[in-house]
Amino acid sequence: MNDRSQNGTVYLVGAGPGDVGLLTGKGKQLIETADVVVFDRLVSEAILALIPEDTERIDVGKHAGNHPVPQDQINQILLEQALLGKKVVRLKGGDPFLFGRGGEELELLEENGISFEVVPGITSAIAAATYGGIPVTHRDFCSSVHFITGHARAGKELSIDFEALVRLQGTLVFLMSVSTAGRIADGLLQAGMDPAMPSAVIENGTRTNQRTFVQPVSELEKSVKENQIQSPALIVVGKVSSLAERFSWFDRLPLKGKRFLVTRPEAGESRLAAGLCALGADVVVHPCIQTSFIRPLEIPAADQDGAPFDTIVFTSAVGVRSYLEWLLENGQDMRVFAGKKIACIGSATAKALKEYGLIADFVPSVYSGQVLGEEMLTSGFVTKESKVLLLRTNLASHDVTDCLEQAEVSYTDIPVYHTELLTWEPEETEAPYDCITFTSRSCVEGFMNGRDPEDNAGLTALCIGEKTAEAANEAGFDVVVSEKATIDSMLEKAAEM
Ligand code: SAH
Repeated sequence: MNDRSQNGTVYLVGAGPGDVGLLTGKGKQLIETADVVVFDRLVSEAILALIPEDTERIDVGKHAGNHPVPQDQINQILLEQALLGKKVVRLKGGDPFLFGRGGEELELLEENGISFEVVPGITSAIAAATYGGIPVTHRDFCSSVHFITGHARAGKELSIDFEALVRLQGTLVFLMSVSTAGRIADGLLQAGMDPAMPSAVIENGTRTNQRTFVQPVSELEKSVKENQIQSPALIVVGKVSSLAERFSWFDRLPLKGKRFLVTRPEAGESRLAAGLCALGADVVVHPCIQTSFIRPLEIPAADQDGAPFDTIVFTSAVGVRSYLEWLLENGQDMRVFAGKKIACIGSATAKALKEYGLIADFVPSVYSGQVLGEEMLTSGFVTKESKVLLLRTNLASHDVTDCLEQAEVSYTDIPVYHTELLTWEPEETEAPYDCITFTSRSCVEGFMNGRDPEDNAGLTALCIGEKTAEAANEAGFDVVVSEKATIDSMLEKAAEM
């Protein structure tokens, strides 16, 4: 017998039309805490990327005309997973109840006493139109909107009452209609629709590869064929379709249709990636270095000659954390900094330090190792008498140390964390990139690990500063440099590309 208290719950979650920002907060929270996620072909890559790495995934994606996992088997999978006591997220494109067969999936669960919840999603039937610049209703044009499936069972006629649809004079939104567009247009025209009635096709709505086409309904089939429209696409018939020409805000975003590879130091959220997405770019994120704290850490209190250090320099937030965590693990605290001066390479490093209750005494005007070295000297922050301790990575650059050496300042350079370069291996089917972004020289080095500079011919690199640009230049890229060494300045530069 089925012991109900041991059963898991199934969450039927609408993933929205594709744009990751259009997933609901509730949906996101469930994806992040599920034991298993069962998903469809219509769920976008960007949303699948939110599934944590150790969460089980079951792909029941259906391909047009070919159903790898039949519906009754999907229903069975959901039941089995729930009977194993798991928290099951069933992720479906758009809204689960609008032509989503969500109802069918709940029937077997309900019959077996499995508990379930349903999280609505933003339906493509409205959102794809919206991103195509079409309000599905407008007081001047219509007083109703109708959602219609254009799917016909193999060898069967469409079961659509075209006379009724034409008589209602509302906006008609057809889903699953790419292969039946011609039959739909004929049906509407035969039922008396004006051949000049505007219609729109929105392919891959809300996604970075969205395309929108507007034409009279009499030319709908021709447009679908000529533009080689592929599923998923939405067809909108009605006067509101003509508004796309004025309101297509999404297709006009500055980076629409451009593909960016964002290389970044570590896995995690990326403000640059989010900013590029907001400008309409298709963004893939590739972390190119991975860091780990060095343990055990051996840090002398004084230099080779026994002179205690008086100046400590950090060139990354990871360095700050590795050192300070080590101090605490060893029963020491911030008092070891008493009487010492601290320099940080940039604001993020200084912020990490502040989290431990320490304020940096020196931050250079530009985030750069060379500028840090130069400005510490010119400002008198370090002098020939200073005893400098640099706490950095095993792969640290020579910029700061070259400056100190030239000025005959004594320093000790201790690695407090390891940096490992991660190779980039694009999938064979991956579309080419218009631009690769680099926010540090180490990112360029990480990206180039095992890669031939000749492979970069004709590829544009958007770089955060001169040093990074130099490295990208050496690596064979066409280089564009942001005016300032900030993410905002990079985004401004990107928008001009
Ligand atoms: N439940 C889904 C619809 C499933 S039916 C929803 O609410 O969106 C599948 C159809 O949805 C596709 O054939 C296509 O017509 C439409 N569709 C889904 N995603 C789409 C997208 N990103 N752009 C345009 N149409 C989309």
